[in-house]
Amino acid sequence: MAAAQTIPDAHEKLIPTLWVQTSVEWRGSALQAYRAARVSLDQALKDKKWTAALEQTGSYGKLPPAIILDIDETVLDNSPGQARQVVGKTGFVVRDWDAWVAEAAAGEIPGAAEFCKYAASKKVTVFYVSNREAKSEADTRRNLQKFGFPLSDGVDTVLLRGEKPEWAASEKSPRRKAVAEKYRVLLLVGDDFGDFLTGIRTTVEKRAEMAAAHAERWGREWIVLPNPGYGSWESALQEPERPATALEQLWKRESWLRTK
Ligand SMILES: [Mg+2]
Repeated sequence: MAAAQTIPDAHEKLIPTLWVQTSVEWRGSALQAYRAARVSLDQALKDKKWTAALEQTGSYGKLPPAIILDIDETVLDNSPGQARQVVGKTGFVVRDWDAWVAEAAAGEIPGAAEFCKYAASKKVTVFYVSNREAKSEADTRRNLQKFGFPLSDGVDTVLLRGEKPEWAASEKSPRRKAVAEKYRVLLLVGDDFGDFLTGIRTTVEKRAEMAAAHAERWGREWIVLPNPGYGSWESALQEPERPATALEQLWKRESWLRTK
C-alpha cells in the first residue's frame, strides 16, 4: 500500500479566497441571491405589511420604502485584501485593512449594483449599513461610485460605525432602527448574521436557535451572501473567550470538526 501523502501547510484563507476569486459557484451564488432579492423587492413593494427589520414598529405601511445592505462581502468584494494575507502569510491586521479601504479598490459582488439600481428605479432608497469606520466614508463612497451604486445626495445613506456616538459598536441594530423610523424596510441584505439580527455574538448553538426561529425569512425578507473567509460565524467558534494566539485559535477551530 502506498504511504499516505503528507499535506503541505497552507494559509487558512487560501481555499476560501480562491473560491471567491475563481469559482463559478461563488459567482452563481451571488447572482442567485440578488435574483431572489429582486423577486422579493417586487412583492414587498405591493405588500404594505411587509417589513424585513425586527426594529420596525408602529404603523409603517405609509412610510416610503427602503432597503438596507451591508457593504463588505455583500456589495463590495475584498478578496484581493484577503489574498494579500495569504501571500504575506499574515492574519487580519487593522493597519493593512485601513490601507486596503483607502485604495477604494474592492471589486463588485456579482449582481449587486444592478439590483441596487433596480431598487432605486422603483423609488426605493438604498441604505448601506457597514462596520467600516466613519473615517472611511469618502473612500467607501468612491469605491461604491466606481460600480454605479446608487448614493442619495439628499440624505446620508452610508451609515458607518462610529458616525454617531450611539453607533460606536459593531452592533447594527441602532442603525436599522434609525432607518426604520422613517422608512419601511423591505429587505436586509448581508453576508453576516449581524446584518439581520441583534445579539448574534454568542455561541454556535444559540446562533443556530436564533436562525431557526426566523427560518422563513431567508430568501424572502433576508437575503444572505456567501462569505467563506470570515465573519461572526467564525468568532462564534472561539466563544466564550477567544484564545490569545493564532495557533490556539486554530486548535479551537479544529476542535469543532465532525469526523462522523
Ligand atoms: Mg459584510
